[in-house]
Amino acid sequence: MTADPTAFGPETGLRDAVGGTTAAAMKKAFGYEHCGAMVRHFPRRYLEVGELTRISTLPVGEDVTIVAEVESVAQRRMQTRKGVLVEVVVRDALGPEQSLLRMTFFNGYQALKELKPDTVAMFSGRVGVYRNHLELTHPDYSLLEDAQDAEPRPIPVYPTSGKLANPKIRKTIETVLAGVTEGSFPDPVPPALLRRRRLPGLVAALESIHRPHEVPEAMRARHRFRYDEALLLQLALAERRVHRRGLEAVSRPGAADGLLARFDAGLPFELTEGQLGTGREIAADLAGSSPMNRLLQGEVGSGKTLVALRAMLQVIDSGGQAALLAPTEVLAQQHYHSIRRALGPLAEAGLLGGAEDGTRVDLLTGSMPTSARKAVLLRMASGEAGIVVGTHALLSDHVVFAELGLVVVDEQHRFGVEQRDTLRAKAGSMPHMLVMTATPIPRTVAMTVFGDLETSVLRGLPAGRAPISTHVVPLGEERFRSRMFSLMREEVDRGHQVYVVCPRITETQPEDDDAASAGADGHPDADRTPDGTPDGAPGGSGGPAPSGPPRPAKMTVEKMVALLASLPELRGVSVGMLHGRMATEDKARSMSDFEAGRTGILVSTTVIEVGVDVPNATLMAIVDADSFGISQLHQLRGRVGRGGLPGTCLLATWLPPDHPSRQRLAAVAATTDGFALAEEDLKERREGDILGASQSGRRSTLKLLRVIQDAELIARAREDAEEIVDGPGGLAAHPALQRAVGDWLDEDMQAFLERG
Ligand code: ADP
Ligand code: MG
Repeated sequence: MTADPTAFGPETGLRDAVGGTTAAAMKKAFGYEHCGAMVRHFPRRYLEVGELTRISTLPVGEDVTIVAEVESVAQRRMQTRKGVLVEVVVRDALGPEQSLLRMTFFNGYQALKELKPDTVAMFSGRVGVYRNHLELTHPDYSLLEDAQDAEPRPIPVYPTSGKLANPKIRKTIETVLAGVTEGSFPDPVPPALLRRRRLPGLVAALESIHRPHEVPEAMRARHRFRYDEALLLQLALAERRVHRRGLEAVSRPGAADGLLARFDAGLPFELTEGQLGTGREIAADLAGSSPMNRLLQGEVGSGKTLVALRAMLQVIDSGGQAALLAPTEVLAQQHYHSIRRALGPLAEAGLLGGAEDGTRVDLLTGSMPTSARKAVLLRMASGEAGIVVGTHALLSDHVVFAELGLVVVDEQHRFGVEQRDTLRAKAGSMPHMLVMTATPIPRTVAMTVFGDLETSVLRGLPAGRAPISTHVVPLGEERFRSRMFSLMREEVDRGHQVYVVCPRITETQPEDDDAASAGADGHPDADRTPDGTPDGAPGGSGGPAPSGPPRPAKMTVEKMVALLASLPELRGVSVGMLHGRMATEDKARSMSDFEAGRTGILVSTTVIEVGVDVPNATLMAIVDADSFGISQLHQLRGRVGRGGLPGTCLLATWLPPDHPSRQRLAAVAATTDGFALAEEDLKERREGDILGASQSGRRSTLKLLRVIQDAELIARAREDAEEIVDGPGGLAAHPALQRAVGDWLDEDMQAFLERG
């Protein structure tokens, strides 16, 4: 580092650079203490001449920014208070017009000194009225260098906070930048990379982003900082990949004439192309000697469970055990039954009629009677149980595996990384890990763009899958409402079954119980606009509707059950109920009644969102569908159209057609392509939500990078990161870059990476 001891470096305290008062204000507003953080306070946008307000058109009561020339300055004593009042009259500096504007500064000694006649400055403040004249009271201002420059530079507009107005932030950053040199702010990105990617150097980019001559220059600088973020993230991920490659796992190549071979031979259908392809990728990973860490993405109903089951059999053929972790008890039971069904005699080792060299499938959930539980735990510990399906009960302390070789996590978004790690810790060596997800949820999408998980995409559906048609039903119109119920009747009369999904269980249920927590991915913010404010949906408590009929409170399972029972068109139809607050036996009975066709209509919360498989169900009505996110709606409707019978999904809503949230419903109705919908979903959200950081209101480490829009940039950064990490000496050969990765990985980011 060159030695200009007076120049500011990233570590120079703000106090030393800009003085104690300003430093204290910056710390209070943004938490910045050093020059490095201050210069990375990037403008949100730029004001160009065209955007400045003209004096002749000042709107009363609004915050404006004008560029004006000082016409006159005067001071006078105030009559009722101590001190002086400085009055500055300015004229518009941008045009021929001669409109004048008065500004007043209480005790404005600084203004008196700086705002000499003919000085040009940018003023910003709120427009008020005083004695029939417009004025700005105590505005912020900053002097513009070039008095006669009719084309001032674009003015950066910074994220502000509290009392810190834009000019103050701008001035502070300019003061810091004036003290920065190439030597004091070394560029962590190697020059060769900058050249290859045609990016400006660090100091030049800082100058351009804060003090551009024109907006495109600022945009080039912004691009460079985006690249920085992408590169640091990719370096962190690449390091993790290298680390993982160094870990040991037991290789599980399977056996030529083992369980898997016999299972395949007995399959009543052909595997789809997608199942074969992803199956091969997984099989190769399992045979390797470092732990698999693979994400299996596939449309609802694409047959992921079968792919996972085949992987489990391969592991069993190599002497290991497999655990399948499900997010809910209902789902764990479903998996347990369908795996046993699929394996038939192969799952009944040691039982009468079971295959001699088969395996055992066991279920472990929290609500099992102690004796049954103990028996299962024993079989797990002895290695007798080849496959154990379970909920989080699998994670409890007493659970021990003899030889855990593979962990399959179904719908990973409901499991935190700690939970997966707990399970991993139960295996002596690192087990292989397969994560399955239906609609690629945003976090997963982010991981696949960024991620250090390997990904397998299962495309295509098994043959004979009937299409699902989806319609938006406006509940505000009586004829549509009654059509919905008569459709239910028609399906039941045809011998089919119906799901009715409601956002809540009871009136008194807290918003985030059951329904919302069932979809942690879901859309907890479903009825909020991107900035987090209520979206003005005509809601129970939200006052009168802007248009359309008033909207009743959100539908509950209990109310719906009562409503259906009271409808003449549904007389004689048996209605069941399923939600997370029911006792386990009641849930199981509800499920089995529906599976066996004893109930015609099942009213439930989103507990049926994943995995529930009743081929005879052909119609789903989602009531108050606008309460759910895109991915969640898509997932839900995947429950119908499973048995070769065409499915119908009704998205019922009270929202008027012109309501922005109706677009979400229209998007779901328009396509059944889960991947397209996931992107749509992602676009709707703030980046921070995707990274799980900003919910808490904390800053996201990714300031500029956008997961979707910057996909290409991210891909390039990934290449560069691989090259560095795999190059001679690895990342350690670039100490400045290595340090930058370390500094940059704050807690949020670390947590995000850990989830991979
Ligand atoms: P996903 O978990 O991806 O939503 P499932 O694994 O539950 O899908 O599969 C849905 C249904 O399709 C199951 O009943 C399963 O037995 C069946 N299935 C799976 N693969 C095939 C195939 N290749 N051909 C026909 N049916 C299949
Ligand atoms: Mg499934």
